[in-house]
Amino acid sequence: MDYKDLVGFYKKLGSTQSSLEKTSILSDLFSGKDDRELEILVKLCMGRIFSAWKDEDIGISSKLMVKALKKVSGSGEKAINQEWKSTGDLGKTAENLLGRKRQQTFAVRKLTVEKVHENLKAVADFEGSGSQSRKIDNISELLSMANPEEAKYIVRTVLRNMRLGVGEGIVRDAILEAFFPIILDIKDAMGEDIREKDVLIDKKVSNDFLEEEKEFEPEIFNFGSVKISEIEYDRFDVIILDKTDARKLYSYLKDAVQHGYDVTNDFGDVAVTAKNRGIKGLLGLEMKIFRPVNAMLAKKVDTIKEGFETVGKPAGVDYKYDGMRAQLHKKDDEVKVFTRRLDDVTEQFPDVEKAVKEFVKSDECIIDSELVAYDPDDGSTVPFQKLSKRIKRKYDIDEMVENIPVEIRPFDIIYLEKALIKRKYSERFEKLESIIEEENDVIRLVDRMVTDNEEDVNSMQQRSLSEGQEGIMMKNLDAEYKPGSRVGYMVKLKPVMETLDLVIIGAEWSEGRRSGWLGSLTMGCKDDDGNYLEVGKLATGLTDKQLEEITNRLEPLIVEEDGRQVKVSPEVVVEAEFEEIQKSPTYTSGFALRFPRLKRFRDDKEDADSIEKVARLYKSQN
Ligand code: AMP
Repeated sequence: MDYKDLVGFYKKLGSTQSSLEKTSILSDLFSGKDDRELEILVKLCMGRIFSAWKDEDIGISSKLMVKALKKVSGSGEKAINQEWKSTGDLGKTAENLLGRKRQQTFAVRKLTVEKVHENLKAVADFEGSGSQSRKIDNISELLSMANPEEAKYIVRTVLRNMRLGVGEGIVRDAILEAFFPIILDIKDAMGEDIREKDVLIDKKVSNDFLEEEKEFEPEIFNFGSVKISEIEYDRFDVIILDKTDARKLYSYLKDAVQHGYDVTNDFGDVAVTAKNRGIKGLLGLEMKIFRPVNAMLAKKVDTIKEGFETVGKPAGVDYKYDGMRAQLHKKDDEVKVFTRRLDDVTEQFPDVEKAVKEFVKSDECIIDSELVAYDPDDGSTVPFQKLSKRIKRKYDIDEMVENIPVEIRPFDIIYLEKALIKRKYSERFEKLESIIEEENDVIRLVDRMVTDNEEDVNSMQQRSLSEGQEGIMMKNLDAEYKPGSRVGYMVKLKPVMETLDLVIIGAEWSEGRRSGWLGSLTMGCKDDDGNYLEVGKLATGLTDKQLEEITNRLEPLIVEEDGRQVKVSPEVVVEAEFEEIQKSPTYTSGFALRFPRLKRFRDDKEDADSIEKVARLYKSQN
């Protein structure tokens, strides 16, 4: 496929807000492609070059991109920055700059989707000394082959900011639409012209409908007697059922696609499987060791009673540790450690790797756990903030292991010789218990009990807090493991003042003694459409050290500068404490945090809390 044709799809996707329309645009894009191309297209439309589970990054910041644009456009850095300031988008900037240049030059070579993807992948592989200039050379070479519109999307792909509003749900639904029959209930079917299509009609609904549609001979099944999984996915274009069955079948198919994604964490694989092997293929997809899956997330509750209402009685009740989520993969004598963002941090945690090798008695498993750091002198728990130093560390790792040792607290298991995600949590925990050898001081099952008694939960919570942990988790004993979902199979109860996880979207260059540092952080929460809405500025109480860290993190993310004000790409998540939430016309969310303080950086989180959460906290104050 020519890249220019993909750009056509990008433009269509960008021009509608409707999820349904986006779904069908994507479904058109996916249909009729060969496997290789399909896999690439699925990634590219999600703004990815690699699969979600792959810990690889192209490693090009906005700053490097400006350098590449300088090379290819012939404009100076100053002019590029000027343009960038006015567009607020380096992709658009590239389009404008190259548009102007192209008027003076001729031929643009034809780019294919595969070529663009291959080139970008190759750029990610450059490492070590001189790699930055090689990256710049390669990107500028690719851009020089592109027409201005293509350049816009190449730049956006590299910077992972496609602005297309294509999330996981839309890709899942598009795969469903592209590779499975359309499912209609009888009422909808009346309005569709299905005469040219291969149709399967259930006997229950066919009578009246057929009277009017005599021209064609649909295949009629008694749907009730046909196993859904045996309906050949590519035999029919349309299946017509009564309303209840239509709904049932649709959600069955949707679950099959979702299952494929849950276990593989790779929509490319899911699309190719759906296309070639249908429902059976999807249901047969298996988890693979060393390919991390998304972690199940917790809902928040405010009281123990609400906790029991959500997860049922009796419930599993664990300490909630103030540490870092770690997914531990083990196969024979090999172990890998992944963060909640699915980054591979095995190198940073050789102590964890060693302990899992030694004390986990299984040749093939995936364990969900929390790593908790403690003070080597007195054994007391140290906060996550300190532990987070280990996550990105590339040197002096042994020293880190010694100064900030961790204890592994496993709380769930999602694979033991086969995937366990469909098994009940109570069963999973039993399996977990059976493979952890606890006679050591690095790995210990979570502190946990099973109870239906609120008083027991309360005293456990007091204990957890007095030991410096965060509170407790309550878990539904009968629930499956839902990767990536906040379904309420486990809930967290934190009695301390609620905090908000917010994304930094802007900042200000400081003045006076602190000039050269970015401060006064504009923080944003998220709305349903994925836009960031301001909820206030975090300006006071920042130490010099924090300001330095903030500057180091934010400077490469600057996308726009206006005097001292900068806008940054929304990538840094902070946990903010505050006195209260007020209504405010000043900020786009309509709320302002009073006296916000930076509690910590949330390197384990990718996204901000929702505007709903802000509104709920606002209400709960009164
Ligand atoms: P939060 O990050 O506030 O949404 O809380 C959920 C996080 O708590 C999980 O992602 C884990 O990293 C952490 N956690 C600590 N202890 C447990 C536990 N016993 N069970 C599950 N998650 C835990």
